[in-house]
Amino acid sequence: MFRKILAANWKMNKSLAEAEQFIDRLLSELPELKKPESNTVETVIFPTFVHLVPLVLKGKETAISFGAQDCYTVAEGAFTGEVSVTQIKDVGAKAVLIGHSERRHKFGEDNALVAEKFKAVIKGGLTAFLCVGESLEERKEGLSYSVVEDQLALPLFNAEQVNSSNLVIAYEPVWAIGTGDNAEPHDVDKMADFIRDWLANHFGETFSSEIPILYGGSVRPGILADYLRSGKVQGALVGGASLDAMAFVKLYKEML
Ligand code: PEP
Repeated sequence: MFRKILAANWKMNKSLAEAEQFIDRLLSELPELKKPESNTVETVIFPTFVHLVPLVLKGKETAISFGAQDCYTVAEGAFTGEVSVTQIKDVGAKAVLIGHSERRHKFGEDNALVAEKFKAVIKGGLTAFLCVGESLEERKEGLSYSVVEDQLALPLFNAEQVNSSNLVIAYEPVWAIGTGDNAEPHDVDKMADFIRDWLANHFGETFSSEIPILYGGSVRPGILADYLRSGKVQGALVGGASLDAMAFVKLYKEML
């Protein structure tokens, strides 16, 4: 049985007070999140770096876990402005978003850098949420599958000891992120099948059948259940709609 995962990418949003109020609201609306492991949906929030420490402390003894939106490739050294996996783990975060489309397209991260960051996350003992997805141009040119294949190949061939407890794949077509133009569930299913076949061909059926796949791209309350129905994806990575506590609560309930 797959675990269900609902992840919130807050990007560069919220004051600390707003972030803390969000957690309070979540815990009061969803009592099953109040105790570790009492939840049916794994709930991971990716706040901005500077809020990780207070939020991890606030979420202690709850079922909510936290992750970083990015990391650097090495553990320590003269890399002004960067944050290492060792440091992220040290403050109690559990996961790192790797290869988010905004990192790729606004900050020029290519598959080689994504692969190095991915390797660092796995080596450092955290869970990598590896984001893959084609741009609109690539989609129009019929390149969606080959783009996603390239985005999977370098990180996964480059890292060792990847398994279902340290890898989550998020299929996030770039054209669907933050646009309100969510992908058709049927197309997401086809991509999930493609990803699982690719994983099976390269790493075996067992590995492939255990890795959670999420959909991300303008997910909002009322449409999430449509993506889960076929059982091909196990949850969602949500940006915009995850900023509002009550919208997030609705999304959570759609996953039950
Ligand atoms: C994201 O940032 O990963 C995302 C999916 O954003 P949105 O839900 O706003 O499209």
